[in-house]
Amino acid sequence: MNPISNTTEQWQQQDAEHHLHPFTDSKSLNAKGVHIITRGEGVYLWDSEGNKLLDAMAGLWCVNLGYGRSELVEAARLQMQELPYYNTFFQSTTMPATELSAALSEITPAGFNHAFFANSGSEANDTVVRMVRRYWDLKGCKNKKNIISRNNAYHGSTMAGASLGGMKYMHEQGELPIPGIVHIEQPYWYHLGGDLSPDEFGVKIAGELEVKIKELGPDNVAAFIGEPIQGAGGVIVPPDTYWPEIQRICEAYDILLIVDEVICGFGRTGNWFGSHTYDIKPDLMPMAKGMSSGYLPISAVMVHDRVARVLIDEGGEFNHGFTYSGHPVAAAVALANIEILKREKIVETVGSDTGPYLQKRLRELENHPLVGEVRGIGLVAAIELVKDKKSRTLFDPTGEVGTICRDHCTQNGLIMRATGDSMILSPPLIISREQIDELMVIVEKCLDKTAHDLAVS
Ligand SMILES: *Cc1c(COP(=O)(O)O)cnc(C)c1O
Repeated sequence: MNPISNTTEQWQQQDAEHHLHPFTDSKSLNAKGVHIITRGEGVYLWDSEGNKLLDAMAGLWCVNLGYGRSELVEAARLQMQELPYYNTFFQSTTMPATELSAALSEITPAGFNHAFFANSGSEANDTVVRMVRRYWDLKGCKNKKNIISRNNAYHGSTMAGASLGGMKYMHEQGELPIPGIVHIEQPYWYHLGGDLSPDEFGVKIAGELEVKIKELGPDNVAAFIGEPIQGAGGVIVPPDTYWPEIQRICEAYDILLIVDEVICGFGRTGNWFGSHTYDIKPDLMPMAKGMSSGYLPISAVMVHDRVARVLIDEGGEFNHGFTYSGHPVAAAVALANIEILKREKIVETVGSDTGPYLQKRLRELENHPLVGEVRGIGLVAAIELVKDKKSRTLFDPTGEVGTICRDHCTQNGLIMRATGDSMILSPPLIISREQIDELMVIVEKCLDKTAHDLAVS
């Protein structure tokens, strides 16, 4: 069996017969036929039919350096030859794992000097749950166990990750959330703000944290977790007043603040971390995705000295870890990834040039009859499509119009994802102004096609 000689139909048939896809209705996918991606270069992908696509999602928010970076390939190849695997359990380490922990300390905010490695965002968040509960045990606060998260948050798909997340449709499958995880409302001004200004709404909605802490009793609350910008939930950018108020409440009630940097980390918002962009002072920072530009799976929890000192000085053995924690090949790739981001000043370019440019170009769409709101910062954005712009009335049901628009995009050479009726953009950080212009031409064309479909149906 030589896969090179297969046709698209043969691959689709094989996939339908044997492959169960994540977050996918297999029956409808199999009826339609899966899209087979075969090659990538820079911001572009090619499929098995030879179509070229501009990947405005950077894979799944992760291919920050773009496709085909030979230095990342070379870093992996060299490390595989030298030492493809060794663990970090047996009083041992490998050079890439140790060097990566130091490199991460350098680029994260002050006070973050320790990394715990895992292989995915979900595993990083599972680690966070274990770690904060362990921390409060060591501090003698045996009841500080509850973690407060938010509706529509995304923190992964393991039992703890999905529980921390606020996706109702995930909780419904599998008796989630697990005990000790509760949710408050999200800072989604466009949907929930009503007559309040964004700033008024930001303070009000952050106040739900204080109400929930009082309801549970501060002695029973371990931590609050949030993404700086909610990614998978629809690129929900909080009002400027939101994070300062969350920070104040966490400090007032002695609650740890976990900032999930899995999407915002490694330059996405125009600074190294979302915590820099929003001036948040977290205690723990789970990170993944852009950490290796998605070339290999790796994640980390960065632990602030406040927490690390307790775990190290008083903790004894922490009974947690993964076979592949600090995998040397993935770590070598992550190191090379950070080095390139630095050397090519990619984070600075996103912050001062391409990020503001994308945001400015996208805001031109606000005059389009379908576009209710454009939101985003750096190279992450959403275009929310609505039924009525003035009254902020959504389509009913939501999701159908977004899907129509997404399909037009794919057919016209652009990969954009729809979350409900929000069209999501998170392109590789190496995208140029010219490529942003190219992207905008397709977006405008597809919004018009979508509006046309709605008018005639
Ligand atoms: C993707 C994501 C995760 C989960 O990461 P996986 O690698 O898919 O397990 C966690 N948190 C956030 C904010 C994410 O976007």
